[in-house]
Amino acid sequence: MPDRTFLDWPFFEDRHRALAEGLEAWAEVHLPVDHHDVDAACKGLVAALGAGGWLRYSGAGAGEALDVRSLCLIRETLARHDGLADFSFAMQGLGMGAVSLFGTDVQREWLGLTRAGKAISGFALTEPGAGSDVAVTATTAVRGADGWVLNGEKTYISNGGIADVYVIIARTGEAPGARGLSAFLMPADVAGLTVLDRIEVMAPHPLAHLGLKDVVLPETALIGRAGDGFKIAMSVLDVFRSTVGAAALGFARRALDEALARVQRPRAGGGSLADYQMVQGHLADMALQIDAAALLIYRAAWTKDQGVARISREAAMAKLYATEAAQKVIDMAVQLHGGDGVRTGFAVEALYREIRALRIYEGASDVQRVVIARSIMG
Ligand SMILES: Cc1cc2nc3c(=O)[nH]c(=O)nc-3n(C[C@H](O)[C@H](O)[C@H](O)COP(=O)(O)OP(=O)(O)OC[C@H]3O[C@@H](n4cnc5c(N)ncnc54)[C@H](O)[C@@H]3O)c2cc1C
Repeated sequence: MPDRTFLDWPFFEDRHRALAEGLEAWAEVHLPVDHHDVDAACKGLVAALGAGGWLRYSGAGAGEALDVRSLCLIRETLARHDGLADFSFAMQGLGMGAVSLFGTDVQREWLGLTRAGKAISGFALTEPGAGSDVAVTATTAVRGADGWVLNGEKTYISNGGIADVYVIIARTGEAPGARGLSAFLMPADVAGLTVLDRIEVMAPHPLAHLGLKDVVLPETALIGRAGDGFKIAMSVLDVFRSTVGAAALGFARRALDEALARVQRPRAGGGSLADYQMVQGHLADMALQIDAAALLIYRAAWTKDQGVARISREAAMAKLYATEAAQKVIDMAVQLHGGDGVRTGFAVEALYREIRALRIYEGASDVQRVVIARSIMG
């Protein structure tokens, strides 16, 4: 049984505790799902999460604010039950994050669909030559008589190939570097948008390399003002980075639960692995790292929910610590399982694959270190 005592921390209100309990009960009935066809699994998960009402939390309508504590609690809970369920929930939020924060009423009509589980969204920022360094984005958007004309490539786009709508960042050239980017809302059925490749990764989920050839978007597709794309992308990441930490926390809690059950099993020669003090020491280290991660995540989420405009330092600390700690916790859970730890079909083997990408996407660990160092140097 996972530790629930953290729900009593002062970061939470009663509505958060009710949300966590309600989702736990839902997850016990609906998760995990079959992962063999990840496209079908994700489409089914989005529909189910929408029908269950959980996707309401993935976006914010006019006059509403994203509740980051709820986003984190939902991701933590789903990740503990099923990595693909967490992915499906998270992408509805990340994909539409720019619209939640900066969208017009017309753009928010898409939110009605994504929050009901009736449309799938993606966020297209990364390019073959522009990953950590968004300022070198090469995809262009040129203003023409019919609106904006986009050309370029985007890669490692989650939900690429199954999304109904993307937010895409492109160069509009108001100024050099980061100050010359803009954000656009782009329906997936627009002419000129193609899936160049599907990308296979160690913890499979829908991922694609997209091509844009003379894609025409209307003036109303522009999110915020031209030239604000970098600011918009960073504001979205400011909200969702803490939630990546929360997903890592869910994976780590599951790994500790699996390890606890394993080491307390009776052994052939009597007693259990848990009798060894060294094993107890490893369990203590795992629990300590989990609590430290949770404190950083819910500190960041609570701070954002107090209305603080940017929480770059808190979010970077939460994501960096939680993802790195989860990797160590899961690695120890694998170790405590012996040979079974690396065997297909065991939960810790899947967690070992699931956690790795979280230290890379939405800002790699070293990029988070740069953000933290900049914030403390003033
Ligand atoms: C599973 C998965 C899903 C993804 N989903 C999406 C998505 O939905 N949308 C999207 O737009 N992108 C997505 N990405 C892309 C992801 O955000 C990028 O992979 C990430 O930002 C790193 O960029 P890169 O791969 O080009 O690596 P690089 O930028 O080349 O970085 C490689 C390494 O170089 C080092 N490094 C780079 N820059 C710095 C720096 N400034 N300081 C110190 N060290 C540095 C770090 O060690 C870093 O890990 C996804 C990636 C993965 C793996």
